[in-house]
Amino acid sequence: MSDLEAIVEGLNPAQRAAALHQDGPLLVIAGAGAGKTRTATHRLACLLARGVPPEAVMCITFTNKAAREMRDRAVALVGADARRVMIRTFHSAAMVLLRQYIGDFPESGRTPSFTVADPTIQLALLKEAIAERNFDLKANRPESFLWRIGRYKNELADPESLLARQPSHDLMDWSRVLEMIRSTDRYVNRLTAEIWKRYEEKLRRNDMVDFDDLINLFVQMLREKPDIRADLQRRFTYLQVDEFQDTNVAQLHMVKLLAGKRQNVMAVGDDAQSIYSWRSADIRCILEFERHFPGARTILLEQNYRSTGAIIRAANRLIAHNAGQRPKRLFTAAPEGRPVVAHEAETEVDEAKWVVQRIRAGAEAGRRWGDFAILYRTTAQGRPFEEELREASIPYQVVGGPRFYDRREVQDSLAYLRLVHNPRDSVSLERVLNAPRRGIGERGLQRLLALAAQRGVDLIAALRVAADEGVLQDEAAAGARQLHDHLRRAREALERQPGRFAAAMERLLRESGYLAYLQEEDRRKEERRSEVVESLIAAMHEFERRSPDGGLGAYLDHLALLEGQEDESGGDVVKLQTIHSAKGLEYPVVFVVGMEQGLLPYQRALEEGNLEEERRLCYVAITRAREELYLTGARVRWQRGEMVLTTPSQFLSEALGPGPAQPLWVPASAD
Ligand code: ATP
Ligand code: MG
Repeated sequence: MSDLEAIVEGLNPAQRAAALHQDGPLLVIAGAGAGKTRTATHRLACLLARGVPPEAVMCITFTNKAAREMRDRAVALVGADARRVMIRTFHSAAMVLLRQYIGDFPESGRTPSFTVADPTIQLALLKEAIAERNFDLKANRPESFLWRIGRYKNELADPESLLARQPSHDLMDWSRVLEMIRSTDRYVNRLTAEIWKRYEEKLRRNDMVDFDDLINLFVQMLREKPDIRADLQRRFTYLQVDEFQDTNVAQLHMVKLLAGKRQNVMAVGDDAQSIYSWRSADIRCILEFERHFPGARTILLEQNYRSTGAIIRAANRLIAHNAGQRPKRLFTAAPEGRPVVAHEAETEVDEAKWVVQRIRAGAEAGRRWGDFAILYRTTAQGRPFEEELREASIPYQVVGGPRFYDRREVQDSLAYLRLVHNPRDSVSLERVLNAPRRGIGERGLQRLLALAAQRGVDLIAALRVAADEGVLQDEAAAGARQLHDHLRRAREALERQPGRFAAAMERLLRESGYLAYLQEEDRRKEERRSEVVESLIAAMHEFERRSPDGGLGAYLDHLALLEGQEDESGGDVVKLQTIHSAKGLEYPVVFVVGMEQGLLPYQRALEEGNLEEERRLCYVAITRAREELYLTGARVRWQRGEMVLTTPSQFLSEALGPGPAQPLWVPASAD
């Protein structure tokens, strides 16, 4: 048996055809659990077995965790060479390539040590931009600009194109009302464009890019720099993209530009699982794949290997109610298995109790904690389940729960790290100047920034110059001089030993007085923030141990790419997560909770006419289950301080009932 045959041995004929496909565009489209990800992994192995160099393949996955899994499986199939394949998310691939090439793209205004602005920094910069125009921050909330600008970036727009944009209410001019709407629209676009321009300028000056920029700037570089484009096209001869249904326009362009004339693109996806339109995913990217990549071959996979017959039937019935889906067959050779159970509890607390009871019973019958997942529409729904699990002493993890990195003390510590790494970062400087206070207020900061710009020095150097030349005086000068010394010493330590950043950063946080300041605050307020910083320090040392040649930059990148949704633990614990974050995953036992009108489908989506996307979301949830599926809800629920009688989700009868006239809740005694 040849190597290739050994690799495709366990695949069905359609999967095999896809895995053996070599040149030219290929679209693999299939329902949930039909082995799309598995097929893509085997295709990667086939390419390597055929002698394609690992460095010539780029695989895009939806999460960092999925990337790790694909890498491990490819290594198991063809050996350690597969480690050298670039398997990353869109953002992470764009980031490493930007770092490598941005030195040859000086027009971007960034250096190879640019940092990624997280939402806290983005908001700080937007606030500055809004304040410069003397706009009221209440009426012009930075969050709304952040959201709008993010969306435009995902469409590859820029401030200029926004100004040229026609008002969106493009109806007949039949009344003055419409004219009013038009001019409001034009006004909002002008305002956004202007704030956006200032915001971009600030990012540049700080040597920063924001999360969406990673893709945009990369696409811009590919467009404007033919040499870089040619180099990258030579370097990556094969591209594979998983979860293609959630690609946005900017990402589609990234793929097209990298593929060039060769068009060796394998896209894998399921239009019925497109659930990220709110983040500008554009379902047309997959529906019109053949238009973007002419001559593409399409392969459909129809056999589901994940779930029992009962689960697949529920999924098929549900999604059949969507008019906008490409019709697909999905069958399984697996036995019927246990019936899908729907359970209506009295209150949300009773719902949580019921679920936890089931989990306990399952564990007693031999299941591991890690076999169970509780999926919900909105993060807040997790709370009662957490409480019941804690009560029952069952180990659990909230995937994407309150982010460690959003805490004030973590943000403060990271500001020190960022400033050392990127001494043009004025937002981090401002944080550092205030934690602890050093007698340098808003005016002092402005002087420092102006001085740095005038002299063409970075912000760390400016601290020293300001102190020496009397730009800052007394307490402020002393504070600036001290801070300068600490930061410079940290930078020097990194220059000597770039890989050993953790000890240098630990020293900085201790000697600069930050930790002592926190400890003092903890004593006063009876808090434990300093312990959080100690655990951050431990995490840095751990990161350094695992990636010895990474360094501070790699650590900051690692943090920037943790989207907060990902499960980093991998331990044997019950998982609580939103449906959005469960895409691509599978669990033996799944509870989809809160099956009520207004929750799933979500109220706002109902109002905006997005019922089909909610149905796709429910489809994703249901199809995560391998052996047992429970759909639960509460008859009454607290909403805005009131007990409200709920209505069962319409998806229940769509998925389970033979017709809409049937009772909505299927008796739980069925199992
Ligand atoms: P999703 O749409 O949820 O991302 P998918 O189409 O990517 O699903 P996979 O995750 O690749 O599906 O596969 C689902 C499950 O079926 C996995 O456990 C996988 O190992 C198994 N599987 C896929 N194909 C086969 C096969 N030919 N033989 C046996 N098991 C298979
Ligand atoms: Mg998959």
